[in-house]
Amino acid sequence: MMGKVGKTKNAKRNRRSFRFAFFVLWMMALLTQPLFAQTTAVSSASYTFGQNLQFSLKANRTDVETAVLFFTAPEFPNALQVDLPVMAGQPVNLTYPVDLSQIRLAPFTTVTYWWELLTTAGDLVAVPQQTLTYADDRFEWRERPGQPVTVFWTGDDPGLGQLAQDIAAESLPRLQTILPVTPQPFALYLYPSSADLRSALRLTGRDWVGAHADPALGVMLVTAVNPRTAAADLRQSIPHELTHFLLYQTMGTQYEALPLWLNEGLATLLETNLNPGYDLALETAVADQTLIPLAQLCLSFPAVDERAILAYAQSASLLRYIQAQYGNRAIGDMAAAYADGAGCAAGVARGLSQTLPELEAAWRQSLQPQNPLRIMWQENGVWLLLLLGGFGLSLLLMLPIRKG
Ligand SMILES: [Zn+2]
Repeated sequence: MMGKVGKTKNAKRNRRSFRFAFFVLWMMALLTQPLFAQTTAVSSASYTFGQNLQFSLKANRTDVETAVLFFTAPEFPNALQVDLPVMAGQPVNLTYPVDLSQIRLAPFTTVTYWWELLTTAGDLVAVPQQTLTYADDRFEWRERPGQPVTVFWTGDDPGLGQLAQDIAAESLPRLQTILPVTPQPFALYLYPSSADLRSALRLTGRDWVGAHADPALGVMLVTAVNPRTAAADLRQSIPHELTHFLLYQTMGTQYEALPLWLNEGLATLLETNLNPGYDLALETAVADQTLIPLAQLCLSFPAVDERAILAYAQSASLLRYIQAQYGNRAIGDMAAAYADGAGCAAGVARGLSQTLPELEAAWRQSLQPQNPLRIMWQENGVWLLLLLGGFGLSLLLMLPIRKG
């Protein structure tokens, strides 16, 4: 009985404290609400691809002194801020244009923007955040949804989307023997020409070769120019860009610190159709002794086309050498070391138990053309011996006949 009374008292107390908490919350809501409730703000953004981006704000308040615009995108180091004065006693009606030749946006990125209004009374009114997808809308994209890749393409060929998906599907198991991760969904855009792709990238992409991956955005841009060569071209570009994706998923935040010779070398090595120009570039550089020092390929590739081709060729050749000498696992071990934050040389030391100069010297040695006579001896030595023996025997047999 006593217990029951005690319980009822407790319940009453609980109910009272609940009501008090509710009252406090209600009062707080009442105090903060007017700032938002009295302000009807319409914030919007629009763009002309590659040219300009425009932010607009309309608000019914007449006590705003300054409107502050913030906008950012995943590829920006931080949000940009612009202070815009507002005419005294007038409702807010602002537009702010951004010149996209000055501030560069990645194609298909997401722009996040918001405003803060500073009133004459010193209050700060926040206008909620909004996003804008910066799609390349200069083309009418056909779309074929799928997992993990949704393909977008232009033109009349209805089968191109399926072809690209098939190539991605056939490349994946091969890539996953080295990078055992399941790819997250991504969008693949097939541009109708290299010029169109370059204009989309405005040459800001690292891959000058006619394809580009932005793993952080989940977007891959390649070209499929000619219907007859589309399959061969895509077997080169899709596995290459897909490798960058899988590396990004493996590396996380350390992706940018991955040595370029490893990132591009692996991507190039895993292309199904290798660029024949790479072999020629490499042979010429070996003969002319103009190979690029490996340490230079840790953080940047040359900008000049010819040297850039050599950088890709060297990197792919080095990765092929590492794969042959140390196996796929060593490549994974190096990637893991770089994901841990190891520097260019430290990652090689951890993955291959070799210094960077030792690795470079061994790889260069493997490139040296062998003496043609030695190669002939190695390949045909037994036959040459037999031939020589037979020749000597014939001579011996002929000698007594002459005497006679
Ligand atoms: Zn690449």
